[in-house]
Amino acid sequence: MKKISIVVPCYNEQEAIPYFYEEVQKVSSTMSDKCEFEFLFINDGSKDDTLNVLKNLSKEDSRVKYISFSRNFGKEAAMYAGLKEATGDYVAILDADLQDPPSLLPSMFETLEEGEYDCVATRRVTRKGEPKIRSFFARLFYKIMNAISNTDVVDGARDFRFMTRQMVNAIIEISEYNRFSKGIFGFVGFKTKWLEYENIERVAGKTKWSFWKLFLYSLEGFTAFSTKPLVLSTIMGILLCFVAFIMVIVIICNTFIFGNPVGGWLSLACIILFVGGIQLFCTGIIGQYLAKTYLEVKHRPIYIVKERNF
Ligand code: UDP
Ligand code: MG
Repeated sequence: MKKISIVVPCYNEQEAIPYFYEEVQKVSSTMSDKCEFEFLFINDGSKDDTLNVLKNLSKEDSRVKYISFSRNFGKEAAMYAGLKEATGDYVAILDADLQDPPSLLPSMFETLEEGEYDCVATRRVTRKGEPKIRSFFARLFYKIMNAISNTDVVDGARDFRFMTRQMVNAIIEISEYNRFSKGIFGFVGFKTKWLEYENIERVAGKTKWSFWKLFLYSLEGFTAFSTKPLVLSTIMGILLCFVAFIMVIVIICNTFIFGNPVGGWLSLACIILFVGGIQLFCTGIIGQYLAKTYLEVKHRPIYIVKERNF
């Protein structure tokens, strides 16, 4: 009998959890002859009644385990906690809002049981029901990310994954503070089978990701999985030096031929602004890496547990 751990990060999901539990419970009963289940809910500092909903569930069903954080640490921290605490031979990560259909679990399980793959991952091929502007920037992010990073980050990949114990252990090994799972999954490698499906809208409640939060998360991705932006500042520096050199020659010729020492102050002002801007931009890039390094060397815990039932 194989054991499957279902890891569910929850932040303000009091409406969605009952639907989710019902769904996943149905699926688990169809598989009960082949495997046993463990449902591991991570309450990521919810401000609503999520914790009580989880407590009640755990009273009814002994397979329901929960960990409750002392505050909101973010989905990345919740997923890490879940993977760390999961005890199954296989571990799956699912969102609580049913955007990750539990009905895929049986076929994912079968695929891994055959032994060829170490992981079944999902990606959505459409972004239906999402604001156009958000889709545009999401696509742009994946383009830039894959251009500047050696780690493969798949466009539209969800965090919904079904993994072997071996792969989970590899992910837990990566205990960095600035976590970007989409990159970490790619980094650890292993043979992954991709399932594609259309975007499904959440069953209840609303999304926790504002545009601003996603933007910051994308910067996390860039700095965590590429150091190319640092190279960019070097290249820009070299280019500007070259441009300046040409301009010096132009100015010298100009002075000797036309003898006009005052003209051109406007262009000079533009150049000063332009170069100043680029300098700040590059300092900003370096600052990003420095800040991440600063947070990393502090070795602060990724999450703090306040309450748990196991
Ligand atoms: N989530 C979390 N902590 C957070 C934000 C989100 O644990 O700080 C959980 C949330 O409860 C859900 C999953 O992460 O189960 C995905 O969040 P959401 O559905 O809001 O994101 P979207 O699907 O809109 O990208
Ligand atoms: Mg969702």
